[in-house]
Amino acid sequence: MKGIRLGRLFGIEVAIHPSWFIALALFAFTLANGFFPSAYPGWSAVATWATAVIATLLLFVSVLAHEFGHSLVARSQGIPVRGITLFILGGVAQLEREPDSPGREAWMAIAGPLVSVAIGVATLGAAYALPGPEQVVAVLAYLGVANLALVVFNLLPGFPLDGGRVLRALLWRISHDVVRATRQAAVVGQVFAWGFIALGAAQLVLGGGLGGIWLALVGWLMIQAARATARQTEIDHLLSGVPAARLMTTPESWLSPYMTLDWAAKDRLRDWESRCLPVAAEDPAAEFGGLMCARDLKRAPRDRYDRDRVRDVMTPALRLPTVTPETQAAEVLRLLREGEADRAVVVDAGGRLLGFIDVDTFARFFNAARSRRRGATPPHAPA
Ligand SMILES: [Zn+2]
Repeated sequence: MKGIRLGRLFGIEVAIHPSWFIALALFAFTLANGFFPSAYPGWSAVATWATAVIATLLLFVSVLAHEFGHSLVARSQGIPVRGITLFILGGVAQLEREPDSPGREAWMAIAGPLVSVAIGVATLGAAYALPGPEQVVAVLAYLGVANLALVVFNLLPGFPLDGGRVLRALLWRISHDVVRATRQAAVVGQVFAWGFIALGAAQLVLGGGLGGIWLALVGWLMIQAARATARQTEIDHLLSGVPAARLMTTPESWLSPYMTLDWAAKDRLRDWESRCLPVAAEDPAAEFGGLMCARDLKRAPRDRYDRDRVRDVMTPALRLPTVTPETQAAEVLRLLREGEADRAVVVDAGGRLLGFIDVDTFARFFNAARSRRRGATPPHAPA
């Protein structure tokens, strides 16, 4: 999630997503129209609004502190932190990778709520001890209650909430299987998420207004996050220690750049749903000209098959990410996801083409690995 950069704190980039301003307005509005006027009817409109805005800003400072709790512990475990972003539903710390042991995961998960407890207890204590002024006491009391409520919510055992991460760590410790633990924790997370959506919908129907939409939105984002994390954990696990050489497809034959698509479709790429073939270079000094996949054929207009040539629709060598046989498969996947090309070539130290990896290679690899995991023989051997 990208946003407006605010600056760095403890070497960690802090940013604000534009959606955060909606949260700011909504929280300030709720405080200025509900909580403060009913608790302090004597305040002027200006005093009420000013207090509401300050209380909301400080609440988000607490949320930021909570995320710093997670981030600083993660960094102390050697996990790089890309940054913290405040958005409509609170804050999120972007970690480069997941913790590598259940103990570390639990400790990282609990660090955020610990910070919130500390802030909650300190602000409630100060609100109790300070004689005034009334506005300061009101803000402190609000921060105390809000931070403790944040702790209760975050410790619900629904992944990816902090409590859900603790649950995953526990399941991980018991089964020693991080993929299974994540899947189980994600299921619990989705049960909670659907609960939030149902509760939000009920609240909306019963006239609870914006709070219902909020809760439903939290639930919906939790479902997305739970699914994405479960998928990513499985992918990380399957690709861990796998070099590009083990995944790559070695070219069985080469295409000529001048071959018409008609010919390529009939002769070489026929029945090869997800296959690719290297294309010889037009320039004799070059190692190869590009890579042509069955996908490219499908994208090309069929009525031009007799005129268009392979070189017109292939991905030219210059636009292909190049990796070595030793490059980690996870790194290749990252290149394909972040770059423009959906395929990469594997070359040796001399730049000679050894093979290629495209998005379908990964799909086949994952399918085969999942079948093995279930104890079945894979329906198709991985290419
Ligand atoms: Zn947290």
